[in-house]
Order: sequence, then structure tokens, then C-alpha cells
Amino acid sequence: MLNKMQAGFRIAVLRKKAGFSQAEFSEILGISPQAVSKWETGASLPDIETLLNMSWILKTSINNILEGDDYIEEMAGMDRGMLFLNKILLCPDCRRKMKLKSVSNNHISYACENGHEYCVVDGVLDFKTREISGEQWSLSYRNYEEYLHEHNWRRNPNYDRGLDEADVIWEAVRERRPKVILDMACGTGQGIKRQIERINWPVTVIMADVSHRILKWNKIYYSTECRNPFVDMVYLACDGARLPIMPESVDMVFSNAGYESMQAKMMAGFREAYRVIKSGGCTVYTKSVVESYGNSNSRKWMELMLSGMEENEAKMWKEQFVDTGQWLERCKTTGFVENKFTKIYGELAAPDAGIFPFENEMAQWMASYVFVSVKG
Ligand SMILES: [Zn+2]
Repeated sequence: MLNKMQAGFRIAVLRKKAGFSQAEFSEILGISPQAVSKWETGASLPDIETLLNMSWILKTSINNILEGDDYIEEMAGMDRGMLFLNKILLCPDCRRKMKLKSVSNNHISYACENGHEYCVVDGVLDFKTREISGEQWSLSYRNYEEYLHEHNWRRNPNYDRGLDEADVIWEAVRERRPKVILDMACGTGQGIKRQIERINWPVTVIMADVSHRILKWNKIYYSTECRNPFVDMVYLACDGARLPIMPESVDMVFSNAGYESMQAKMMAGFREAYRVIKSGGCTVYTKSVVESYGNSNSRKWMELMLSGMEENEAKMWKEQFVDTGQWLERCKTTGFVENKFTKIYGELAAPDAGIFPFENEMAQWMASYVFVSVKG
């Protein structure tokens, strides 16, 4: 017979070791403080789902909680996210599996059998992709309130328009309960932030971006101010158009305008998402779209925007600025079998004057949609 007293004692010890008070612990697990107290005094045992959540949060096995047998002892002291990477990494140079090579106090690295080796630097696995020049990212991150203020200025017509996209995305996330989420071209992670705040089941989030610097900031932020004990975060500074991840490794690729931020590599990034998603998994993403080249408003906007541009530049924008119908075709061509969308807000009315009104943020006139594309 299972000894409730001893199991309760171990719950209390493990909880304190993880730094949670009874009140914090009960809140995270979504149960009453009285229930925690009952377990710890041996009056009752947690149900199976709570045990699963508890073992994830306490980073131990259910066996260890109930009987004191820790079968995953090799994990001790090792970041669980780093162990997870050991299962899914693919060498960006030769496309072979990568394994943990070196694990010491301040040095973790992964290597393939051909000797290509990459190190964890400041908590971020660094594939030596190009860095974004200047301090723009980290500055906008540190002064995010100001950044928002600039983008919410009165002349920005998209401010306060349409649905709350985080709510729309949350419906898709909650319904599917993914265990592994990749945030493609995550930037400061402001999109995934509003999902992380709500997740209440064990999840690993892989943040992928070309910029090591921004990921370093993210790591600090998501391990302090925006920490959710249910969410393990791992950080890959890598090329989204050539992800260092094995096929069929993640349940969901999330992208908060990330694909389009990859510009000329947008479709390459989208195809990479398809490759790494498990069968039956999906990508959930926000995307700016031209409503329809069949309507005069959309056509007028494109004409205004492209007029005066050099041919190459105009060609690039035309390839990127697809309308809703064209985008759904691209989803199908990429292999996604089911593609649904929700309109967050529609296109602005094109101005009467024949001048394109925006200097930066070329896409401000466009419609914004949340898409869910499912891999068969
Ligand atoms: Zn290699």
C-alpha cells in the first residue's frame, strides 16, 4: 500500500526545495490551499492530472513524489530545456543529429558526428547567425512602453482596431494543448508572452530568432518577470529558414508576424515550420494580408505603395503582399491540409490623394488575420 504520510512528506520537501509556499503552489496547480495541506499531512493524495503537473513543475518523476524513487536522477542539476534540445537538434551545416557534447559548470555545447559544434552562450544556444546591427532590439525591449507609445500614436490607424488577437490565438492554443511550441522569429516574444501568461499545463517553448542579443534579453525576462512554472523556455539563435531542428519535433509553431518579419525568407521559414511540425500539429500565426486583389481598394493601395519603387523592390513587395486567397493557396502548396483564419481587422480605405501615406511600417494599411494551418 502507498504510504500517504510519506508521500505527503516528500511533496512538502520537494515543494520547499523548489521555492514555493503552500499558497503559491496551490495557485499554480489550480487547487485549494487546503488540498495541498491535506496531501502534505497525509490525509489525501493528489489526482493523476495534478500529479503530472506537479512532477513537471517540481522537475522530478511521479515515482519520486509517491515513493521516493527518482528514475530521472541524471537530470539533477541539468536544465531540462537543454536535455530536451538533445532530442531534437539537427546540425545546420550537415543536417545530421546533434548531441550534447560538453556539459560542465559554465559550458554546454552540442555537436554532430562531423564535429560541427555550437555552444550555449548566456543561456542561448548560439548558431552564429547574423546579429541585428545596432542596439535597436534591446533598446526597444528595455523601453517597450515607449515603443508601444510610438506605435499607438494617433496617426497609427491600427491602434485599437479589431479583435484582440491574443484571445483568438489562445482559443487555438487551449484547444490543442501543445506540449512543444516553437516561436518562429520571436523577436522580443511579445506575442507568445500573452499565451505564456495563460498556459497551465506542461509546455516547452522554443524561442527562435536570428538575434542572440534579443534572446539573451528574453531569457532574463522570461526567467524573472514573466516566469510560468509550467513553461520551460529554450532559446535558439538560428536561421528560421534553416532551422536546426529534426523533422516532426514540435506540436505547434507560433508566429506573431514572425514569418513576414523574415521578409525574402518568409516562404522558406513557413516551409521549415511545416517540416518541424509533428503530423497532426499546426502553425498558429498572425499575418498581414491584402484583402483581395479582386477589390479596387486593395489594388489602389498596392499601386500607391509600388509607384516610384525600383523594379526589384516592387517585385519583392508583390511577392510578400499576397491576398487572402493567394495565401491560402500557398498554405496548401506547402502541404498544410486544413487552413482556417479569423480576421482581426480589415484593410484601411485607400486615400483619395495619390500619395502613399506611410514612410515606415509599410504594412499599416493591410488587413490582419490569425491563421491556423494544420499538417496532415
Ligand atoms: Zn554537422
